[in-house]
Amino acid sequence: MLAFMAHPSDEAFSIGGTLALYARRGVKVYVVSGTRGEVGHMEPGLRKGYPSVGAKREAEMYAAAKVLGLSGLYFLNYRDSGMPGSPDNLHPDAMAAQPVGAVAARVVHCIQRLQPQVVITHDPIGGYRHPDHIALQRAVKAALDFATDPEQVPELQRPFKPQKLYYQTIPKDLLRWAVRLASILGIDPHRFGRQHDIDLAALVELGNFPIHARIDCRSVRAIRDHASACHASQGGGSMMRRGPVGWLWSAFGNVETFMRAIPVAENGLRENDLFEGVVLN
Ligand SMILES: [Zn+2]
Repeated sequence: MLAFMAHPSDEAFSIGGTLALYARRGVKVYVVSGTRGEVGHMEPGLRKGYPSVGAKREAEMYAAAKVLGLSGLYFLNYRDSGMPGSPDNLHPDAMAAQPVGAVAARVVHCIQRLQPQVVITHDPIGGYRHPDHIALQRAVKAALDFATDPEQVPELQRPFKPQKLYYQTIPKDLLRWAVRLASILGIDPHRFGRQHDIDLAALVELGNFPIHARIDCRSVRAIRDHASACHASQGGGSMMRRGPVGWLWSAFGNVETFMRAIPVAENGLRENDLFEGVVLN
């Protein structure tokens, strides 16, 4: 299993249960992070002892990887882009500023090296419209559609093609509850999150992706919570125990949800195992 996620903490907060569950079942689980989260907000005290925000977040991610039981953690070495409109989007190394083909080439390299049967990434709106999430989703889809085809990439003599691709998707119910809670608490649902840059109300309208797979994470919740707490600079741990985020985390945290992109899912598909139908050779 190989998950392409854009930033440190995405792997723990959004799919940590799934990663931990399969690792415990003996699956070799790898994560590739697009960036080191260089432009993420961080309290100055938390950076102490590290040369940069990116270095601290990389260290947090290695700690989380150990807790989740990952077999390997790698980086595509792009720079974090920030939310839409941020000047960080224009940095020459920003992941969101790269041509899709260039990112896809790095994705292909990881796939050929690690040979996963199952690949996971963000959904086409990047969960909450983060430009890096969207850029990585496009690159992973392009990599699986074209870049593992020997006619497209002649240097790949025996290209490896994963059997399944899933997008991590935030359930609509969770979004609706988040909007409701924000309104009750007097928080503008158009300006949610630590940076006030997530438009929850728009996501309820936009994020209309079918959920094809539900992974029951109850048996690994403690592991996922521990891995999330490793990302303390991003609110992992404390943020998830308190307030509206804590409530949502406890109400919706038992199940992680995915849309299946490859093979294309028939209407009403309901899987509870991402390896269902996978042929091991
Ligand atoms: Zn992210």
